[in-house]
Amino acid sequence: MKSIALHWKILIGMVLGILFGLIMTRFGFGKEFVGDWIKPFGKIFINSLKLIAVPLILASLIKGVSDLKDISQLSKMGGRTIGMYIITTVIAVSIGLVLVNIIKPGTSISQETRKELVAQNIEKADRYKKQAEIQKSSGPLSALVELVPANIVKAAGNNRNMLQVIFFAIFFGISLILVPDSKSKTVKDFFDGFNEVILKMIDLIMLAAPYGVFALLASLVVESPSLDLFEALGWYAITVIIGLFLLLVFYNVLVFVFIRKKPSFFIKGILPAQLLAFSTSSSAATLPVTMERVSEHLGVEEEVSSFVLPIGATVNMDGTSLYQAVAAVFIAQAFGMNLGIEAQLGIILTATLASIGSAAVPGAGMVMLVIVLAQAGIPEAGLALIFAIDRPLDMLRTIANVTGDATVSLLVAKSVGKLGEPKVKNWDDNYVK
Ligand code: ASP
Repeated sequence: MKSIALHWKILIGMVLGILFGLIMTRFGFGKEFVGDWIKPFGKIFINSLKLIAVPLILASLIKGVSDLKDISQLSKMGGRTIGMYIITTVIAVSIGLVLVNIIKPGTSISQETRKELVAQNIEKADRYKKQAEIQKSSGPLSALVELVPANIVKAAGNNRNMLQVIFFAIFFGISLILVPDSKSKTVKDFFDGFNEVILKMIDLIMLAAPYGVFALLASLVVESPSLDLFEALGWYAITVIIGLFLLLVFYNVLVFVFIRKKPSFFIKGILPAQLLAFSTSSSAATLPVTMERVSEHLGVEEEVSSFVLPIGATVNMDGTSLYQAVAAVFIAQAFGMNLGIEAQLGIILTATLASIGSAAVPGAGMVMLVIVLAQAGIPEAGLALIFAIDRPLDMLRTIANVTGDATVSLLVAKSVGKLGEPKVKNWDDNYVK
């Protein structure tokens, strides 16, 4: 398989995984076999990606920040990053709202189907509600308080505390700039080398990606519920999918207009990260690969990618916010509610905030959807309606989340004069053969 490009290998792995899963569902022993002998390899693959997330953020962000000439550059970059993240998220929610109001997927669902779906999933919906309540019960400034860890080892010991690790790394990097060169040089050199090692680890892990995605998708297929209910939710799913597609087109337009690069350049550069996002449903697990693709293949200098992408993976979820808008209005429609313009504007605000608060892991967007529903006065039991089809939509929205981060990193890099030519022109040049 030496001459085949990485993205093809991953795609072949995905297709074979789905086919293998489908074949296995035909056998009585299939589910157990896949669970015992295939699924663990998927888990190992995801774990190995997660394993390097914290060291990668630490090393690359400390190196990135300390490479900046002065602190004003950092605040310039920070302001633009946050600004662009908010703008793209609001645009994503708006695309979702326009589509769901035009297509009106909720009106095509019958009373009986609605009752059936709610009855089947009410318990799961309750569990999500409880999780959301824990998030909601905290005070208005709790997000700020949570940003500052009391203990860095503890913060780095949990992949869910990425923002705390980011905070520490930026703080450390800034202090490193302020220390005299004679003292900081060794520390800088250490993180420089450390960073290189982590990047090499990503290369090595990516060699296993085709097999990893095979295992992930095969186990997903054997575990998925029956497809019957998908029909009732078809229009809802189509609305989300069209929205996500338009969002991807929008990113390509941004790259074309502001960076003057063709879609083929952008797509080729980011595709392996998108395929992983789809297979893992987690932008956090995909982060190491997104960072590598953006800096090596799209030409974003590391100072920018190491700053913009880890923050984006945690707070910028355009696909998730679009989905939350569609889902909220879909549920309202299914329950025969008519949402006025005020309620819909409220959804733009809460979906933007909820996507910022969503963790970068599978299914997180659905937990935060509870808050959007509550705010708009839509029955939370409606969550039970969309359970059956959430996983495939989660896989797709994670692609948009990762692509949105990559787009913003290109725009920020361009705006601060840190967009160069890609280091790696040929696909697989940096992967060990
Ligand atoms: N799975 C998504 C992500 O990791 C979050 C979500 O929408 O559930 O980006």
